Amino acid sequence: MNNGKICVSVCAEKTDEFIKNIKRAEEFADVIELRFDCLEANQIDLFFAKINPRQRMNKIPFIVTFRSKEQGGKRELTKEKRDCFWNSGNEIGWADLEEDVVEDSFSWLWDKRICSYHDFKGVPENIERIYKRLRATDVDIVKIAVQANDITDSIAVWKLLEQSKRENKGITDSLAVWKLSEHAKQKSIEIIPIAMGEAGKWTRILGLAHGAFMTYASLETGKETASGQISAKDLIETYRVRELDAQTEIYGIIGNPVSHSLSPFMHNAAFKFHNLNAVYIPFEVKNLNEFLRRMVKPETREIDLNFKGFSVTIPHKQAIIEYLDFVDETAKAIGAVNTVKIIGGKFHGFNTDAEGFIEPLRNSYGDLRDAKIAVLGAGGAARACIYALKKEGANVCIFARNIEKAKILAKEFDVELKPLSTQHSAPSTFDIVVNATPLGTKGKLENETPIFAEQIKSVKLVYDLVYNPFETQFLREAGSVGVPTIGGLAMLVSQAMEQFKIWTQLDAPMKEMSQAAFRRL
Ligand code: NAP
Repeated sequence: MNNGKICVSVCAEKTDEFIKNIKRAEEFADVIELRFDCLEANQIDLFFAKINPRQRMNKIPFIVTFRSKEQGGKRELTKEKRDCFWNSGNEIGWADLEEDVVEDSFSWLWDKRICSYHDFKGVPENIERIYKRLRATDVDIVKIAVQANDITDSIAVWKLLEQSKRENKGITDSLAVWKLSEHAKQKSIEIIPIAMGEAGKWTRILGLAHGAFMTYASLETGKETASGQISAKDLIETYRVRELDAQTEIYGIIGNPVSHSLSPFMHNAAFKFHNLNAVYIPFEVKNLNEFLRRMVKPETREIDLNFKGFSVTIPHKQAIIEYLDFVDETAKAIGAVNTVKIIGGKFHGFNTDAEGFIEPLRNSYGDLRDAKIAVLGAGGAARACIYALKKEGANVCIFARNIEKAKILAKEFDVELKPLSTQHSAPSTFDIVVNATPLGTKGKLENETPIFAEQIKSVKLVYDLVYNPFETQFLREAGSVGVPTIGGLAMLVSQAMEQFKIWTQLDAPMKEMSQAAFRRL
């Protein structure tokens, strides 16, 4: 358990919805931020007429925020309007003030004052100077929120957290030995460091464990008031941010994009099941080399996080290999790594896609020796499937739209190759048909299928690697002619279970991991 707080940010244009959201936020929040700049101009007086915030605050403290558009607020607000707001009797707890109004708001009217700085485009070069300037104002807390366009952009903010802890410790130590120097006259100032954007999400999850005063959360997914915000429910129940500490083992998925990934839900459910001091985080990584060099590799990293392992996804599954100290035989044969385990600073690479694919198939179909299997698609997933099928002794044929490209794969694994077409009758002569193309995936491909019912009516089983939606058009085609099916969620969970076992040597809780993934589809 750490001492950090979860602040749920509340934003609405109308008073009634604003109040309704405050009541909902009370379920999870340690602090509630009232974004008065979200309310329409004529609604603020109405708000104070409708509820007595001082009374409500007995339960949970409020932070009052009133930002102009260029400072990240929702309304055009002149400096005069903001000055007027801060001096009109709205003192109901804590104030979040921008640097330009801090001097004009009376410190004694507020229980706590935050001085905040936002940059929605990137990380300013002089971020350390800005931090020092804010810290020198007469406030209790400094908040610095900057946009991380790549994950390494967030390092600067994390360093401020480290610096703040050192400075506060210096003050405490000075007081402890009665050194009545300049230090003794200072007070400790807390910090809220935030890297905004998907690439900065990790700072919102790990901040409290490393001494940040507070982390901001949205009321629910879809109601974010800043980019990269996570819902309070997910912060508490999925990432367990209140329970994390500096020793927490850190795992995560590295890829780009990662925002759609179900892996954080599956792995965090497994950590929770075994009550492990571990967390799994989405790491949006554009530049793999810089991420590993500046944040992970013990000999070169600039910040000290307790990384223990990663899932690796598109586009880094091949590129990661050159950074590994050891690659297991399966990963070598497939030519891709989807799992990294860090042992004593050394990086070990594995591939669990092959085992994750074959396990549900074996369970459904039984012995795969000499089974005739059509694999539709010739990309990365097809490669892992073909490797696993060949190992089981199956007869594999690839169906691909780009024959020239697929020839390399067919040659490498010594399998047949045919053109993929919705008119082709060839797939009907197979025992099993596997879809390893993205056709059917939620979004613009959702209503598509690589082949139709007529082409698979005599096969014994179809297997779709696409897991979102749970039931794809391809599976519906098979269902309509009575062919049994396996959906992609089975493989997704199965490969994650293999990863969990590699990292922890513990049994992976299948029920908890499947349910956690299924709930997010
Ligand atoms: P990939 O490397 O991009 O390969 C996709 C393959 O599908 C390529 O051969 C591509 O052909 C083909 N393809 C794409 N669009 C097509 C279309 N409109 N018609 C015909 N063929 C098409 O992707 P991947 O990593 O192999 O992933 C493939 C699918 O499997 C994705 O939906 C992914 O989400 C899913 N998957 C699921 C799991 C799981 O755990 N359930 C694991 C891994 C992957 P070209 O080469 O001609 O572009």
